[in-house]
Amino acid sequence: MKMGITCIPGDGIGPEIVAEAKKVLNKVCSVYGHEMEFTDVLMGGASIDAYGKPLTDETIDKCKQADAVLMGSIGGNTSTSPWYKLEPSLRPEAGLLGLRKSLNLFANLRPAFLYPELADACPLKEETSDKGFDLLIMRELTGGLYFGDRFTEEVDGELVATDTLVYKESEIRRIAIKAFDVAMQRSKRVTSVDKANVLDSSRLWRKVVEEVAADYPEVELSHMLVDNCAMQLVKDPSQFDVVLTENMFGDILSDEASMITGSIGMLPSASLNESSFGLYEPSHGSAPDIAGMDIANPIATILSAAMMLKFTFKLEKEAESIENAVKKALKDGYRTVDLIRSGENIAEDKKCGCSKMGDIIASRIE
Ligand code: NAD
Repeated sequence: MKMGITCIPGDGIGPEIVAEAKKVLNKVCSVYGHEMEFTDVLMGGASIDAYGKPLTDETIDKCKQADAVLMGSIGGNTSTSPWYKLEPSLRPEAGLLGLRKSLNLFANLRPAFLYPELADACPLKEETSDKGFDLLIMRELTGGLYFGDRFTEEVDGELVATDTLVYKESEIRRIAIKAFDVAMQRSKRVTSVDKANVLDSSRLWRKVVEEVAADYPEVELSHMLVDNCAMQLVKDPSQFDVVLTENMFGDILSDEASMITGSIGMLPSASLNESSFGLYEPSHGSAPDIAGMDIANPIATILSAAMMLKFTFKLEKEAESIENAVKKALKDGYRTVDLIRSGENIAEDKKCGCSKMGDIIASRIE
């Protein structure tokens, strides 16, 4: 297969981790007989430095022309970087929000998986982490509270702030369909998370999700209130497969889910639109504190590349070859510094920088 990928290396550790993902993808292409063409573009701080704005029309066009976008991370140190002295619409993050909007990326997928080799880093009780977990949060990304009208006005001599939470049936239906489609490729269970005991938007959410569920008789649907879900994620995350939820609930729950894996450098993500197109990026930021030191963990970006093969190109075997190579590298004892707990004894030859971890994983692709 011929694949055209637009890459946004971005800022901080972005260029280092994207280079390792490309290394692994090139190995997959040589083992499985595919062709992949990468086109690098600027966004975020790098684009501000070059063009005075975080996102240019050229970058948007190059992303639209590609089959998929692979991104590192954007942004700098928010206290010291001159990028954060600019007005909000010119800061690095505005570029990412603008790109998501231009590409209509309404579905955000964040898997949270506990690797047995890293279970010690899981902050949950041992009897909980021993069970392991493998869940995926499907978050609606372009509607709800973050995109509704908001304003602050003076009423009866005091300031009153209003944010509105709006969902259309069509917006709920399309994200629910994505969740059920993904569940069909996993353990066929969807937990839809809402606040239907209070919110009208949640009651509509529940109704539409149930309508969509009728088209997927093999998938088991359950509903859970968001406050309960926040508790259940730390009590017994092994009960979840796909967690489907709206924008703000998903924002909070996906960060909670990432924390219980114990390692921010391991978590990939995908943002999809109606077609097979997607933007794939690690869940972490640009880690400016360790940029340029060759110590970043490239695994989240490498696993994002695996998601790209699975969701955009439907190359299941190839995606699994990356996931298995990551598991083997961990099983063989290789660790980047973020995966080493204080006091843990790791042989010198098993300690990895970013580039060495990329080499180790690429060499295990089969
Ligand atoms: P961060 O995720 O960049 O870093 C938090 C901590 O985790 C740091 O100590 C960092 O060194 C460490 N870390 C992160 N990724 C790592 C990796 N792959 N390997 C090893 N250690 C890693 O979060 P932050 O410091 O709050 O944000 C830094 C910048 O990133 C900010 O400008 C922020 O806005 C931006 N950001 C961008 C995105 C994105 O591009 N989607 C997401 C989150 C944050």
